[in-house]
Amino acid sequence: MTNSINRSQSAALFEEAKNYFPGGVNSPVRAFKSVSGPPLFIKKGDGCRIIDEDDNIYIDFCCSWGPLILGHNNDAIREFVTETVANGTSFGTPSRLGNELGKLIIENNRFIEKMRFVSSGTEAVMSAIRLARGVTGKNKVIKFEGCYHGHVDSLLVKAGSGLATFGVSTSAGIPPSFAAETLVLPLNDPDALEATLAQHADDIACIIIEPIPANNGLLLQEKSFLECLRLKCYKYGVLLIFDEVISGFRIGFEGAAGYYNIQPDIMTYGKIIGGGMPVGAYAASAEIMAHIAPEGAVYQAGTLSANPVAMAAGYAASKQLLAPDFYENMAKKTAKFVGSIQAHCDANGYEVSIPHIGSIFWIAFSKKRILAADQIEAASMEKFKILHHELLQSGIYLGPSGYEVGFVSAAHTEADLEEASTKIKTALDIVFN
Ligand SMILES: *Cc1c(COP(=O)(O)O)cnc(C)c1O
Repeated sequence: MTNSINRSQSAALFEEAKNYFPGGVNSPVRAFKSVSGPPLFIKKGDGCRIIDEDDNIYIDFCCSWGPLILGHNNDAIREFVTETVANGTSFGTPSRLGNELGKLIIENNRFIEKMRFVSSGTEAVMSAIRLARGVTGKNKVIKFEGCYHGHVDSLLVKAGSGLATFGVSTSAGIPPSFAAETLVLPLNDPDALEATLAQHADDIACIIIEPIPANNGLLLQEKSFLECLRLKCYKYGVLLIFDEVISGFRIGFEGAAGYYNIQPDIMTYGKIIGGGMPVGAYAASAEIMAHIAPEGAVYQAGTLSANPVAMAAGYAASKQLLAPDFYENMAKKTAKFVGSIQAHCDANGYEVSIPHIGSIFWIAFSKKRILAADQIEAASMEKFKILHHELLQSGIYLGPSGYEVGFVSAAHTEADLEEASTKIKTALDIVFN
């Protein structure tokens, strides 16, 4: 139907990039391996739209994988970053802007008292795990199948076979002894949790979970499961880490902890916290954070941590997120957008459901409610591949994998979402016909 759009510049740049970077990319999922064609080389973004090197324009639902909740090239962020960078980029000293962002975040989050800025989500998680081990004097970690926590060695693991839940690494280069420090459990399964804690709690430092698992589809958990997790961690003397690298500042300023009103022991942040710059953070009570050097014995440091330019971006973003009704409006427009696509699918008998929460959504090619990673059918990814291809043709950009969620930003207007939903419906008609 649609004429093939010209992607020759992106294709040529990708061929060149293969000379410099493994697989032509600096982060694997960017390579479009699970969809068709070369990845787009984007040269510019404004509001909810991105423009590639061939001058094609797309409405963007990837939003740099989540950070850009205010859309591209946000005026206030750009202006404050520009003003700040004029004074230099990094001093390796404390700065006033670090205080200001720390204060703004802590004063508006009931679940944390102190925090430490780092430069990525992975770094935040790695440090939080070390902190949990330092505080408890225990070594093992429980994670859940289908949750992603960055490329931390001991967390790139899946469940082993049989009854043993000790992890098996999912990447070369991870010593089996590291993977064996991690136990992997299925999501939403209180019985497996109780059995594992009853047996191993003496060795377990912490349980880490994405309270809103959004890296393997959107596996929305029952609130009762998260509450059960909280209570069992108290019962067994295990620290609970909420990895809020996606959900933090996305579902509300207080993230999933605020949404579900559950107090974790340690929280990790990334993505939105930096307003589009590389920032991560971990946070907890003052008592737990007192274990971090130089106050305590858990060492963690960072050359570019809390550099003023990144702090300026985070500050300018946070100010906007704290505007009244910001999150209500985001959730409302996302629900309307998703609802309209869902209604079209239902009316036509398409096997599609679109779980969503706040401004996160996921297009699942199944009618069943999916709560755990093993409920996603690999075959459904063929449908996603067609959908992704059709949407590129019509000017809609989704992350290039059916396991990735989509993000709506404050820059997506009702009219943009109307345009996008019409195009998505047309693309789904092609997928199913
Ligand atoms: C993205 C992500 C990470 C890793 O963050 P990076 O900044 O990519 O290192 C960790 N945890 C979760 C839940 C994430 O979504």
